[in-house]
Amino acid sequence: MSGTGNQVVIVGAGIAGIAAAIRLALKGWKVDVYEANPYLGGKLTAFDQEGFRFDAGPSMFTMPGLVDELFSLAGKDPKSAFTYTPLEEACRYFYPDGVRLTAWSDPARFGASVEAALGVKAAVVVRHLKDAGRVFELTRGIFLERSLHKASTYFSGDAFRALRHLPALKLLSTMHAANKRSLGDPRLVQLFDRYATYNGSSPYAAPAVLNLIPHLEHGIGAAMPKGGMHAITQKLAALAEELGVKFHTGSPVDEILVWKGRATGIRVHGKTISADRVVCNMDIVPAYRKLLPGEKAPERILQHERSSSALIFYWGIARAFPELGLHNIFFSADYKAEFEQIFKQGKVGDDPTVYVNISSKACPEDAPQGMENWFVMINVPCDTGQDWAAIRTQAREWVLSKLSKALGQPIAPLILNESHLDPPGIASKTSSFGGALYGASSNKRMSAFLRHANFSSRVGGLYFCGGSVHPGGGIPLCLLSARIVSEMVGKAG
Ligand code: FAD
Repeated sequence: MSGTGNQVVIVGAGIAGIAAAIRLALKGWKVDVYEANPYLGGKLTAFDQEGFRFDAGPSMFTMPGLVDELFSLAGKDPKSAFTYTPLEEACRYFYPDGVRLTAWSDPARFGASVEAALGVKAAVVVRHLKDAGRVFELTRGIFLERSLHKASTYFSGDAFRALRHLPALKLLSTMHAANKRSLGDPRLVQLFDRYATYNGSSPYAAPAVLNLIPHLEHGIGAAMPKGGMHAITQKLAALAEELGVKFHTGSPVDEILVWKGRATGIRVHGKTISADRVVCNMDIVPAYRKLLPGEKAPERILQHERSSSALIFYWGIARAFPELGLHNIFFSADYKAEFEQIFKQGKVGDDPTVYVNISSKACPEDAPQGMENWFVMINVPCDTGQDWAAIRTQAREWVLSKLSKALGQPIAPLILNESHLDPPGIASKTSSFGGALYGASSNKRMSAFLRHANFSSRVGGLYFCGGSVHPGGGIPLCLLSARIVSEMVGKAG
């Protein structure tokens, strides 16, 4: 049995599911979203902890224009519907040798601070970022904004343009090799290698084309939403509801129903919900294993190495640290060993790079006056059965000792309250396979082609969006996956 002719159901209210709901409602579809959790947003959520507010997952907001676009499509002025502040400062870096460096968003200013801290000419940074922008412009039309699984993509003007500039894409290099050639200084290379972690990959394996990522911060510019990252979920969910989308929370979907090669609806709490199109925002691995048990699974894609996961400590801190900014990185001494441990050995080493995000720097209401909310994260492997309680205890000591040394004072006595999130926690809260932050890793040259398409080639009327499918993980790419899906589904009726 199919729906009424214009009914779409969406499985999951992650950011891609919400964005797809907005786009499809605007195309005339009646949209119902079924979400397992009692709240919306998946990884993009928040919580309160004894007077401190924390964004639970994403903290770096790039390509804010993709959120604006959703409000514009709905006929609203994005500037008043969703407000954010462009970041003047992208990140503060702390090296093990004591060197500190501020990465300003503006390339020339960033270059000047690199020259002062590392003695590398500012022009080197400016040129590197210009190259990143060029690669972004050459590839966005193929790898990011269209399906890689439709022949039309390869016959587009964008494809021919990219082909003409193949050497600029450095298809045979890794990110690290290309950064080393372009930047020289090992500390500067480490800084730019870090961008591999923006999609959960290793710079020593991921293709050099991903060196376009810094352009998102130093070309387009990153931002901080008013009210914190969670405001993205809240504002978009409110827009969706205004457009008539119905969210059904506490509703885990048990099955996507297929009849004669077509998706006909879903099963929730033993009840059949009929639909004309089904959009799945659940991670692609459990989607096949649990929701589509009768369908042949694309094993090569499902077996592809997962991205890294994260271990996060949420600390309410008793005082303010003026030397810290919104985003702070405390680098490890041996970056290569760190990625080997994550991807080859499936373990956490004793000198992890530590990321500290302090949203109260931008949103003072997130912490009591004179205090700060620290989101302290290290990259870790996906869950493959490690003893996470033991890893957490050990890693907490390593992180505390590193931060205490770098900041010149013991941090443990300043922790007023604490909670944590680990890979099994991420998996159980969002159904992400192994707790991977970004679906599959990009640790192979052809990784982009090893992500699942935004549609099913076997089941008509079934589409996929979200961080585990094309074009990839992270908020901007999830929003693009929703755009691609809505273009494929087309108008209702
Ligand atoms: P998800 O957020 O994965 O949500 C999927 C939703 O579907 C969940 O709500 C889940 O409950 C629901 N669901 C699953 N199965 C079912 C079912 N059967 N029935 C009903 N509902 C179901 N990205 C950035 O851009 N910047 C960052 O700084 C950044 N940092 C990150 C830090 C952390 C700690 C984490 C965890 C992620 C980070 N990311 C970051 C990645 C980003 O959060 C994700 O790529 C993005 O939010 C994923 O969105 P999604 O639409 O794929 O859905």
